[in-house]
Order: sequence, then C-alpha cells, then structure tokens
Amino acid sequence: MSDPLGWGAGGSRRPGVVRRALPTAVAFLVVLCGLAYLRGDLQELIGTAPGSPRSAAATHPLYRGTGLIDARCDTLPDNSEADVRRTLNALSRCLDRMWATTLKEAGVGYEPPGEVRLVADPGEAACGIDDYDWAGIYCPDRRVVNVLVEEDRSFPMMFTLAHEYAHHVQEIGGMAGERGSEVFDEAWSRRLELQADCLAAVTLRTVEPRVLENQRLLAEGESDAVDDQAEGYRRSHGSGTSSAAWITRGESGGTMAACNTWSAPPDEVS
Ligand SMILES: [Zn+2]
Repeated sequence: MSDPLGWGAGGSRRPGVVRRALPTAVAFLVVLCGLAYLRGDLQELIGTAPGSPRSAAATHPLYRGTGLIDARCDTLPDNSEADVRRTLNALSRCLDRMWATTLKEAGVGYEPPGEVRLVADPGEAACGIDDYDWAGIYCPDRRVVNVLVEEDRSFPMMFTLAHEYAHHVQEIGGMAGERGSEVFDEAWSRRLELQADCLAAVTLRTVEPRVLENQRLLAEGESDAVDDQAEGYRRSHGSGTSSAAWITRGESGGTMAACNTWSAPPDEVS
C-alpha cells in the first residue's frame, strides 16, 4: 500500500536521527543549565546587571536623547489647597504636556495615561488588587494613574500624582528593563521607585518647589519608622534617605539623565 505521507519511511529512519542528535542535544542542555545557573555572575561580567553603567536599563536612549524638562504649569490654581481635585487635574494636563515634549525629543511617542482616577477610597482603584495601603498606584495593564484624595493638603498628592506619572513614562518609554535581561527582585523595585521619585521631582521642581521640600521631610520621617510594614516598604521602595537624595538629584538636575537609578551603585538605591 502506498504511503502518501511518508510516515513509514520516516519512521524507520528516526532512531538513527535521534541517536546522532542526542549528544548535541544533551550538550546544549548542559550549556543552557550552566548559563541559567551562572546568570548573575555572567550579567556582572558582561555588564548587564542592574547597577552596571553598561546594562540595557542604564544605557536607555532616553537619557541621552532628552534634555532639560520644561517644568511649568501656568494653569495651576493660585491656591493649590482650595480645590485639590482641580489642582490635580490641572497638574495632570501639565504633566502630559511636559512628558509629550520631552519624549518627542528622543523620538518616542507619548500617550497620556488611559485614565487619571482621583479616588476617595482605595477600593475604587482601577487595578483590582487587594492592596489598600497606598497613596497612589499605577496600573500598567490599563495604564491608569490612581491617586488617593483624602485630605486638604495638596502637596503630598501633587507629588504622588507626579510619581505615578513617572511610572507611566517608565512603562511607555520601556525604561524599566522589563524587556531586557534584568532580575525582577526587590533591588529592581527600589531602582524603579526611586527613579519615579526623582522624575517626579524633575517635573515639579519649578511648578511648586515647596512640594519637594515637604516630600523630603516626609521621606526622612519614614526612615525612623521601625515596624514590619515600614521595613517592607523600604525594601521595595528604598529608604527615606535614598528617596530624599533622589528627589534632590531630580530637582537640581532637571533631566531624565539625572534620574538614572539603573546605573547607580547599590548603596544609592538602598
Ligand atoms: Zn511607585
């Protein structure tokens, strides 16, 4: 009987093919396992580990391709505390303009967040997560910025809004190294968060410098807290001292390059 698909003939050849290919396949597997095992050491050796100035995250084109960020917001109400939501909405539009202008310099298209939610209760956030202990949160999936509006002190909320916007920029600019070979651990998280603090300071530095003064005081106060929750926050977001230092860098540098936490030594992102 004819065998139009050729299975019969192919089947009789297969054992020979397997025998010949097996040593190569085993050797390949051994090499792969070895690479996986030595990954951390190799990254340091070839400079792709976070903290190495040669890593993909540290050499992102946005640092070289963008200049001083024009941090102005003329539409901000004179009294930022009179109507916090109005203040935050005005700031949000200014942040869109600043980031669109800056990313354009590097040829990167900017899209505003999918939504900016000013929520009165953490349960109203768009992320659908069970973590209710936050002042602001960014949902990368739907690109939603959420800010908890809970009191009439606008400065902390202005900083939070600028910080979550920075996460949005990290996301659309691909600055977090998520598509590279970085390791996603607590050290990675601290670099991400401290960069967002720094970029927030860049965008607020001439809009309202008192926001940054206030934020540094809050950050330094956090450094004194000793409970488990504070410790967990420090491990994922960096210490208050580190946060205050990156806010100062962003404020005085005024550029994305000033906020390259991915090239900083570990003690600056602790
Ligand atoms: Zn954050």
